Amino acid sequence: MGDLSSFCCLNAVCSDVGKRGHGNRTVTARYGPGPTRRMLRCRTCKGRFSERKGTPLFDARLPPEKVTDVLAHVAEGVGTRKTARLTGVHTDTVTRYTRLAGDHAADLHDELIPFSPQDR
Ligand SMILES: [Zn+2]
Repeated sequence: MGDLSSFCCLNAVCSDVGKRGHGNRTVTARYGPGPTRRMLRCRTCKGRFSERKGTPLFDARLPPEKVTDVLAHVAEGVGTRKTARLTGVHTDTVTRYTRLAGDHAADLHDELIPFSPQDR
């Protein structure tokens, strides 16, 4: 089944929303090509969600390797048009995945780093 400790419930009205390693996740189904993607269920609220929800890979049309390739170029500071040429995707695709990754990174930052270190 794999390690589910890094996942949390994404249902805003669930009492266990955002609690990682809480032990209330189960895999209810697999889907997608393979099928390799897991559908997770919260035992508390009975909600189901994809393991990819909230990530740039959720509902992605590009293969995961191509998304990683595009975002690796962007992370290295390569511009949108250069990234599109080097990876063989449209500039709008680069922009869309960059925004999705940025939103995901902002959410992770807010969760993992709630307070900035104080100045001396
Ligand atoms: Zn829940």
